[in-house]
Amino acid sequence: MDKNQDKDTFMRKAIDLSKRASIIEKSGGVFGAVIVKDGKIISEGYNQVVRHNDPTWHAEMQAIREACKKMGSPHLKGCILYTSAECCPMCLAASYWAHLDHIYYGARVEDSLKYGDFQDVNILDELRKDPKDRQIKFTELLRPEAVEIWKEFSKMPDRARY
Ligand SMILES: [Zn+2]
Repeated sequence: MDKNQDKDTFMRKAIDLSKRASIIEKSGGVFGAVIVKDGKIISEGYNQVVRHNDPTWHAEMQAIREACKKMGSPHLKGCILYTSAECCPMCLAASYWAHLDHIYYGARVEDSLKYGDFQDVNILDELRKDPKDRQIKFTELLRPEAVEIWKEFSKMPDRARY
């Protein structure tokens, strides 16, 4: 199999998982994902928001968590995410935290909006707004007390680094 056929195979697996989530198990929306390292699938995920009443249980989040567990690291250098639909802002951010190399997506945000009424576009609009104009209020409070812990943390030689 050449590389392009491999890519299609991985994307079809992600699309199969999106069908499992939405049509077969009805666990959530039309979203499936796999993570690939060195030409092999190391983790999978599918949307289970409704099943678990967990708004963060997106396909990509599950795939990232399981891949990190398998790799024994919070980072997924050299890994590629195949997701059946363009990432929402949460999953895109998680992909940066995970240091993924590349993301392939199937359907676009406009498709999930058109056929499923998913509101990712609105979140992207919110991010572009001034914080004071967003739907969820975002207000600084007790900064000096919070920063005290940061100061202590910055002096610890064995502090968490990632
Ligand atoms: Zn997401």
